[in-house]
Amino acid sequence: ARRIVVKIGSALLVDRRSGQLRVDWLHALAQDVAMLRARGADVLLVSSGSIALGRSVLGLGNSDLALEQSQAAAAVGQIRLARAYEEALAPHDITTAQVLVTLEDSADRRRYLNTRATLGTLLGMNVVPIVNENDTVATDEIRYGDNDRLAAQIAVTVGADLLVLLSDIDGFYSANPSQDPSARRFDVIDRITPEIEAMAGDAGSGLSKGGMKTKLMAAHMAMTGGCGMVITEGSPNRPLSLLEQGANATWFTAQE
Ligand code: ADP
Repeated sequence: ARRIVVKIGSALLVDRRSGQLRVDWLHALAQDVAMLRARGADVLLVSSGSIALGRSVLGLGNSDLALEQSQAAAAVGQIRLARAYEEALAPHDITTAQVLVTLEDSADRRRYLNTRATLGTLLGMNVVPIVNENDTVATDEIRYGDNDRLAAQIAVTVGADLLVLLSDIDGFYSANPSQDPSARRFDVIDRITPEIEAMAGDAGSGLSKGGMKTKLMAAHMAMTGGCGMVITEGSPNRPLSLLEQGANATWFTAQE
């Protein structure tokens, strides 16, 4: 692919128990990004993790947070998140940029065009944008609340060919495998039918928000926008290399 968006969930980047960054994993991911870029691909990262990082810094534990608490945690965590990416990618001579967006930025045409222009300029300057939802200003009504749809929105905005969702599971199954052991993984999905939609369940873990429902919405946005999408497991080191080597995944085909 020529232009790739990679979405990284908080569960991959932040250790659930300690609330600490998984630095080794991030360094391995940076190697993958460097490999893709060495081949001439543009790479954008969409990363969650600011709230997870911020809550541990603020000592908020694992309890449910009120909206204003999560927004405070996001503000504290985002700065660390951005620094972590910068430090991981700099040894590969890759410059990073922090881009924070809200749903409104895609709904308003002027802001949409401006986002697109800025991202295009950054990519033209060989920078890797690190995109996240601007949790500090987004109210409940204007939030994506998950980065799956945000990543799809960004992928379509920049005309990406491929959106990679690194998840805690290796693809889309006929049912939630943690509840139904007979569930089977799809290798390829060409069209999102009502039957497929009925197979998608919610997220299984505390740090995640999306589950397969928002991933299917993301797939729909990407596919109709001419971008392919793939869901694969992100926890092994260098998941993008593994994907190229044929790791388990579900591929969603772009519509012409
Ligand atoms: P991420 O952090 O990658 O966004 P989520 O926890 O939001 O991950 O979504 C992945 C989870 O969705 C899986 O671990 C699983 O528990 C749940 N899930 C629900 N329905 C399905 C399905 N049909 N196929 C696969 N996973 C499913």
